[in-house]
Amino acid sequence: MDLLVVGSGFFGLTIAERAASAGKKVVVIDRRNHIGGNAYSEAEPETGIEVHRYGAHLFHTSNETVWEYVNRFTEFTSYQHKVYSNFKGEVYPLPINLGTINQFFRAAYSPDEARALIAEQAGEFDTKSAQNLEEKGISLIGRPLYEAFIRDYTSKQWQTPTTELPAEVISRLPVRYNYDNRYFSDTHEGLPVNGYTAWLEKMADHPNIEVRLNTDFFDESQPLNKAAVLGKVPVVYTGPVDRYFDYSEGELGWRTLDFEQEVLPVGDFQGTSVMNYAGADVPYTRIHEFRHFHPERDYPTDKTVIMHEYSRFAKREDEPYYPVNTPEDRERLLKYRELTDSEPQVFFGGRLGTYQYLDMHMAIGSALSMWNNKLDGVI
Ligand code: FAD
Ligand code: UDP
Repeated sequence: MDLLVVGSGFFGLTIAERAASAGKKVVVIDRRNHIGGNAYSEAEPETGIEVHRYGAHLFHTSNETVWEYVNRFTEFTSYQHKVYSNFKGEVYPLPINLGTINQFFRAAYSPDEARALIAEQAGEFDTKSAQNLEEKGISLIGRPLYEAFIRDYTSKQWQTPTTELPAEVISRLPVRYNYDNRYFSDTHEGLPVNGYTAWLEKMADHPNIEVRLNTDFFDESQPLNKAAVLGKVPVVYTGPVDRYFDYSEGELGWRTLDFEQEVLPVGDFQGTSVMNYAGADVPYTRIHEFRHFHPERDYPTDKTVIMHEYSRFAKREDEPYYPVNTPEDRERLLKYRELTDSEPQVFFGGRLGTYQYLDMHMAIGSALSMWNNKLDGVI
């Protein structure tokens, strides 16, 4: 073996695929019983509808290198993601656009009129110097829209006051002064034609790659554990960075999700793939209806699969999904970064390994960079 990859998500599989194609022998271990990390999907048995087990995954990128790379493993449909938000029993289009603004203010503003109104309502904070999510949100869309669509949804989702969350979280959502309500603004967007798992399996399908599932890096009863391999073989580690160091600098805050999946005896439950619930009075953040991700497929017309999503702080035994990233977390992370720099022959990557909010295309892009800049020719 030339390389051990811990974690078979997009980061780990990209590294494994690149190394294998360069002639290296790679073993990928994952503690779960399937490959693919959080992007894994499977057919719901009663309906055959593809369900994303760890929450809906929408692929989008403007990075041409990543787009060329991913197209080696799958074709993409022409799906374009759109999201709606239920606020006080009324449905509005997201991200905030002229349609949302006019519906909310019961008006017919032109783009310039809407810009002028929002500028007036957003004046209390400056976007560039906004210190946290609340200030940034208000500076972008003004207080009334912020309080309706962002404040309570974000508090539900992050379980942290919006004044303690980093401004970047909200920068992901565009604000548009036209009626375009595509959720993403990237050049390329779509869903894998044959599903995520077929794509992920294709990446791992190489004679130089061996995948071992149900194998935890910290389980000393399995041969490829941390103590046994450290310093002997290069390791790419994509699990949680704080876990790797046995939480020596304290625990980093993560958010986890609980999903409640149901098959309903109706052909169409909500008419769209994702409906957010803006209010604090509704306990879940959103409802996914998976059939709408693949309108081109021949799914049953009398049944549908929906999933309620609930958000909460992760305890140690939960799946860590989103880094919370409070100022204390960032201080701890700096200490962990010092430790990772001095760890012999271990390369930390991915969402968990770097404690970053990475989309799939970012995880793949940063794995390609790690391969090109740190590993190729070295391992
Ligand atoms: P992961 O996919 O988390 O893979 C890490 C792997 O490491 C896991 O399989 C885990 O089991 C394994 N592992 C951890 N510890 C150990 C250990 N000790 N031993 C062995 N194995 C271990 N991205 C988008 O582009 N679009 C989206 O719409 C989108 N939606 C998302 C929704 C949710 C709810 C979540 C959580 C993420 C979403 N993402 C989305 C992000 C996407 O999931 C990540 O970008 C991608 O999964 C990152 O891959 P990764 O390899 O870094 O991590
Ligand atoms: N957000 C919000 N209201 C919404 C949708 C999103 O306040 O209806 C905020 C929230 O803070 C969220 C961020 O925008 O964390 C990014 O949203 P996105 O839908 O990208 O989050 P994800 O799908 O990654 O959970």
